[in-house]
Amino acid sequence: MTDRYGIIGYPLGHSLSPYMHNRYAYYLGADETYEAFETDPADMEKTLLQMHEDHILGLNVTIPFKTSVIPLLYGIDSGIDRIGAVNTLKYTPEGYIGYNTDVRGLKYTIEKSGLSLKGKDVLILGAGGAARAAAYVSEQSGCSSITVLNRTYEHAESLCRDFKGKPLDYSSLNKLDKTSYIIFQTTSVGMYPYTDVMLPVPDDILSKALSVIDVIYNPGETALIKYVSSLGIPTVNGFDMLINQGLESRKIWKPDEILTKEIKETVYDECTRYSWT
Ligand code: NAP
Repeated sequence: MTDRYGIIGYPLGHSLSPYMHNRYAYYLGADETYEAFETDPADMEKTLLQMHEDHILGLNVTIPFKTSVIPLLYGIDSGIDRIGAVNTLKYTPEGYIGYNTDVRGLKYTIEKSGLSLKGKDVLILGAGGAARAAAYVSEQSGCSSITVLNRTYEHAESLCRDFKGKPLDYSSLNKLDKTSYIIFQTTSVGMYPYTDVMLPVPDDILSKALSVIDVIYNPGETALIKYVSSLGIPTVNGFDMLINQGLESRKIWKPDEILTKEIKETVYDECTRYSWT
């Protein structure tokens, strides 16, 4: 029987995960498939139960379910209680177990870019699952402070309770310290297909940012990345994070799988060339 994997989220039109995982399967010659399960939030619980019944062995979880899926799980990986978000589910007969591989993906991306968060003021735009990964990585890396700017104040507040940050929304921008931040853009604003939009972050904040990490990978250059790059500010996009969270998910689903360096590099290159149009 073909082993089934997939991603659950809404919307999913932007996602590269099905292509990426199906390419790994192709090069491994594995009898498996990875499907996109676009799921209306109102149907999430029912759909997850059905997936378990259908023996879907592993799932990635994306917008908007990374936090809301937790109560529906049989358990979560002990290391991630602190994060409060999952992006990877593994089948067990009793139910799914949740893991977070976004954190490793993001950590790898930051290390690869040579960026140090130690002693830096961090500004996180957004307060969802990816924001929680950014807060966790920042805290672990010894950042000096965390400020969370989000559309819904209550969500920023909830994240800041867990990570000792300063919550703000767009009506309280005057309370934003005028310092040089490392900025994490973790919302879906600017993501395919609405690629020309940008969050209303004040120019005096953007213009003196130390670096901007936008976790969006589609497009590779969001409107925000294009803008701050034009000001000479170093930027990082979400592509390496995507590739690495995917590899970490596979290790959880199939601990015995061996992906050679050559397969990894080939799929990486293919993903850089993938076109959604
Ligand atoms: P999520 O948990 O649903 O959180 C979404 C966040 O975006 C929330 O803070 C939400 O604000 C904010 N938001 C959504 N629409 C907005 C709008 N129109 N204006 C202002 N804020 C808005 O989603 P997620 O799973 O964290 O994913 C967020 C983004 O990160 C997506 O683009 C996803 O593809 C990307 N991501 C990339 C990777 C990677 O591997 N590169 C990994 C994870 C996520 P409210 O609280 O007000 O709703």
